[in-house]
Amino acid sequence: MQREGADLNNMQPEDFICDFSRRAWDGSFPMVEGHRGALISGDCLTIAYRFVVLEEQTSLEPGYTCTMCLERRKDRCWQSPAYEDALICLRCIRQGSTKLDKDPDWDWEKPKAENPAKPVT
Ligand SMILES: [Zn+2]
Ligand SMILES: [Zn+2]
Repeated sequence: MQREGADLNNMQPEDFICDFSRRAWDGSFPMVEGHRGALISGDCLTIAYRFVVLEEQTSLEPGYTCTMCLERRKDRCWQSPAYEDALICLRCIRQGSTKLDKDPDWDWEKPKAENPAKPVT
């Protein structure tokens, strides 16, 4: 999201705020953009990826509206524990993490399963 009262003709890094943690951007960490200025920080994307992709969990049942793509979704999603109107669907998590993983400007990698040697129970 954009900071309320930001000058649209002269946007500063701190005018860009992660929808999921409300952390203002200072240029020192990656952000992924969704529709209509929705943003998710690399840190939040890491949490979302772990929860939805690795742990195969979901915060809400199908029929929620994703904050990033603004579509009504049927896949799994992650809801920000701090701001419950901030939701990201599995598709947006995959797209965002693939994009960020490849981005040479940032040292961000898709999280990996913590105990890959253990069988999934
Ligand atoms: Zn964040
Ligand atoms: Zn989405």
